[in-house]
Amino acid sequence: MIMENINVIPMPTTVKEPTPSAFNIFRCKCPRCRKGDMFVEANPYKLNRTMKMHEQCPVCKQPFELEVGFYYGSSYVSYALSVAVSVASLIAWWVFIGLSTNDNRFFYWMAVNGVLLIGLQPLLMRLARALWLAFFVKYDPNWREEAPEQPERVNKDQMNNW
Ligand SMILES: [Zn+2]
Repeated sequence: MIMENINVIPMPTTVKEPTPSAFNIFRCKCPRCRKGDMFVEANPYKLNRTMKMHEQCPVCKQPFELEVGFYYGSSYVSYALSVAVSVASLIAWWVFIGLSTNDNRFFYWMAVNGVLLIGLQPLLMRLARALWLAFFVKYDPNWREEAPEQPERVNKDQMNNW
């Protein structure tokens, strides 16, 4: 009996990594490798450290502050997120509690929504920064081999001070 019929499956020379989910942005992961954490503290409700960010991605070395005052623009994203939360909570209120011009239910919604927005603020502020950075930094499947682009307009003295 000749053993020539055994199929030998060749090992692939390069293991293709699966692309990490784009939803990792919502977990405040680096947009370039989708693995490294943007924020130093995992829990956003440790309020004195909520916005403390790594200077660069701990995994792929992507800088997180692309220019002076980079995260100023994230306030627009934060605003849009707050509007989105308010619209969602208004619709939920309308469906589950109802709205009428004959009583104060709309004003109760405003109060509840205000508390909700304040409670969600640490999450929304972080998410706004993660989304803002993701506008400018795309996922790079070759992040292990290639060095990240270095920003030209940074001022070391003015980093993370606002
Ligand atoms: Zn990274």
